[in-house]
Amino acid sequence: MLHIDKSELQNHPTPFYAYDLQLLRETLLSAANEAQKYGYHVHYALKANTNSPVLKEVLNVGFGADCVSGNEVKKALESGFPAGKVVFAGVGKSDAEINFGLENDIFCFNTESVHELEVLNELAGQKGKTARIALRINPNVNAKTHHYITTGLEENKFGINFWELPQLLDYLPELENLHLVGLHFHIGSQITDLSVFKALCLRVNEIQSWFLSRNVVVEHLNLGGGLGVNYHEPDTDAIPDFATYFGIFKEFLKPEPGQQVHFELGRALVAQCGTLVSRVLYIKKGIKTNFIILDAGMTELMRPALYQAYHKIENLSSQAHELRYDVVGPICESSDCFGKAVMLPETNRGDLLAIRTAGAYGEVMSSGYNLREKAPAFYFGRR
Ligand SMILES: *Cc1c(COP(=O)(O)O)cnc(C)c1O
Repeated sequence: MLHIDKSELQNHPTPFYAYDLQLLRETLLSAANEAQKYGYHVHYALKANTNSPVLKEVLNVGFGADCVSGNEVKKALESGFPAGKVVFAGVGKSDAEINFGLENDIFCFNTESVHELEVLNELAGQKGKTARIALRINPNVNAKTHHYITTGLEENKFGINFWELPQLLDYLPELENLHLVGLHFHIGSQITDLSVFKALCLRVNEIQSWFLSRNVVVEHLNLGGGLGVNYHEPDTDAIPDFATYFGIFKEFLKPEPGQQVHFELGRALVAQCGTLVSRVLYIKKGIKTNFIILDAGMTELMRPALYQAYHKIENLSSQAHELRYDVVGPICESSDCFGKAVMLPETNRGDLLAIRTAGAYGEVMSSGYNLREKAPAFYFGRR
C-alpha cells in the first residue's frame, strides 16, 4: 500500500477495511485536473463506496453525485452535495424514491424506460413540478468486460433501445411535467480496452445526429463511467490514466456548441484506495493445494464470488519462500474463495493478509450472511 505502513495495520481487530485517503486525494485531483482541461463535469458514482470520509474527499474536488437509489440521493444531499449536482439513475426507481428526488429538486433523473417516464410525469404533476430528465439510451456498444458488468447491449435490462426512440420522441410532448435536458449512456464497468470509449463516442455522435435531425438539442451529454483499474498492479499503477481517458472523448466526441459533457466515475476513483485486511485462521492441507482459511470472506468482499473477480493478495507478515495456496473465507459456500493457486510466502496462523484494490464495490456490498458482523473501516492519511 502506497501510503500506509504495515505496522499501522497490526493493532486492529480483523477483518477490516483500510482506506488510504492520501491516495484517494491524489486520484481525485488527477481526475479533476484532466476533466477540467476540457470543461468536463464529473459525478462520482456513490454506489462504489458511500463511506462519509470518502465522500468528503470527493466533495473537496467539487464533483457531483451519481446515485442509483433514493437512499444514495439522501446520503449525497446529507453529505453536502448540492441538489443541482445530483443525478439519479436506475431501472427500478420506486414512487417513494422518485418523490424524494422531486422534493429535493435534483439536477436530473436518468430515465430508463417509457413506463418510468409516464410514472415520473404523473408524480411530478401531483407535486406541480417539472422533472428534468435525461434519456438513458442503450447504444449497443460492447464494453468487452465481464458479462455481469456489461450494461450497454440490447440484451441488457438497462436503458432505452435506439429503435424505441422515434415513438418516444413523438410521445414526449404529451408528458408535460418532464423537461428533456440530456442524453445518458453507461455501457459497463471495469473497461480496460480504451478503444471501447472511442466506439462509444462514435455511436453517441450518430445518436446525437439523429436527435438533431428531429430538431432536438439537449443541454448535456452524459457518458457514464466504466473506466477500469489495474487489479494486478495496485502499487505501480495506482492512479488510472485519466489523461488518456478524457483525451479520447475530447478527440472523438462531438458535442454541439454550448453542450455540457458529464461523466459518472465510480471504480476508477476509489478502487485502489481500499484494502481488506484479514488474519489467517488456519492452514489446511488439501490434495493438490493447501488452503489458507481467512477470517474475512465473501460477506466482506463479494466480488470474487459474484464476478469471479481477481484481487491481488499479499502476506504482510511473512517473507518466507513462496508456496501455492487457495485463499478462502469461512463462509459456507464453495464460491467463498479469494484466489486459487496463489503464490504466497509460506503462511502461518495469525499472519495478516491484504486483499488489494477493494475500495470500490467492496464494503458497500458486504452482507450479514451467516449472521456475520459488519467489518469496520479505518482511515489512514487523514488531514
Ligand atoms: C455503476 C454506474 C456508474 C459507475 O460505474 P464505474 O464502472 O464504477 O465507473 C456510472 N453510471 C451508472 C448509471 C452506473 O450504474
